[in-house]
Amino acid sequence: MACIIDGKRISAEIRAKLKVEVANLKAERGIVPSLAVIIVGENPASRVYVNNKKRACDEIGIVSHEFALPCDVSQAELLSLIDELDHRGDVNGILVQMPLPAHIDEKAVIERISPIKDVDAFHEINVGKLMTGNFKFLPCTPAGIVRLLDESNIDIAGKHCVIIGRSNIVGKPLAMLMLHCDATVTICHSKTLHLDEICRTADILVAAVGRAKFVTADMIAPGAVVIDVGINRGGDGKICGDVDFDNAKEVASYITPVPGGVGPMTICMLMNNAVTAALLQNDDLKR
Ligand code: NDP
Repeated sequence: MACIIDGKRISAEIRAKLKVEVANLKAERGIVPSLAVIIVGENPASRVYVNNKKRACDEIGIVSHEFALPCDVSQAELLSLIDELDHRGDVNGILVQMPLPAHIDEKAVIERISPIKDVDAFHEINVGKLMTGNFKFLPCTPAGIVRLLDESNIDIAGKHCVIIGRSNIVGKPLAMLMLHCDATVTICHSKTLHLDEICRTADILVAAVGRAKFVTADMIAPGAVVIDVGINRGGDGKICGDVDFDNAKEVASYITPVPGGVGPMTICMLMNNAVTAALLQNDDLKR
């Protein structure tokens, strides 16, 4: 039976360390990291995510500013708010909660945030920096996954990592990050042939599909590490991942649960990026 990777515990430990770092920054250098979060409309899932981010900021000592805009806000108004926050010296990080209403061009919004305040690391400059390895911000979910593996003493170098999903926020950046960690990486998607076979060759299998219990035990090599990124609502109405956890845990060596695996790490890495942003904007590039 697999060892369960406890993202809740690991993320709590990281938040505690960040809290100390933030307190020291304030006491020794007068730097108080701050994060502006923009939410558009009334999407209930987005509201939960924004509240969780605010709670994490409060816990760590990061100042958070929330800007809740109506769902019919124009793109011009949203971009103008981003410009205003970009110019404010007391705002280190800017995050626009996705998804946005259909009349707003998400790409235009992402590109409007200065790369140095882009704590989600979605801006094309930050995407490029990830590609070359010259990064300061890492996208939060991929960074959280690598940190989970590291904290669990699971070596990545030389391993075959199979990632199901090629989105810009999870699959693609994770592939690049794993490559920087010296993994051999295969990315799969909805057009991949022989998916089951490829999955069975994985030492580390990451599911970022968005389909409840998509990865079944027979797709997992005995002893593989399984990372479940998915957040879905199962038939019983409960939150579940992309992996059939109950059966997969009998085959895998390590596995992340949902909830309590990758999810809490994503917020943790956002907090980490907010602190990095504050340091970068105070000419401290050492972190
Ligand atoms: P997307 O919908 O953007 O991407 C899903 C990917 O899965 C696509 O690349 C798609 O392929 C692939 N896919 C879909 N069906 C199949 C299939 N039958 N076989 C193989 N591949 C398939 O999702 P995200 O990457 O944004 O998110 C994935 C999941 O992770 C979601 O459940 C989301 O809620 C969750 N998530 C969790 C986070 C966390 O912090 N825990 C953070 C971000 C996301 P194709 O490209 O060909 O369409």
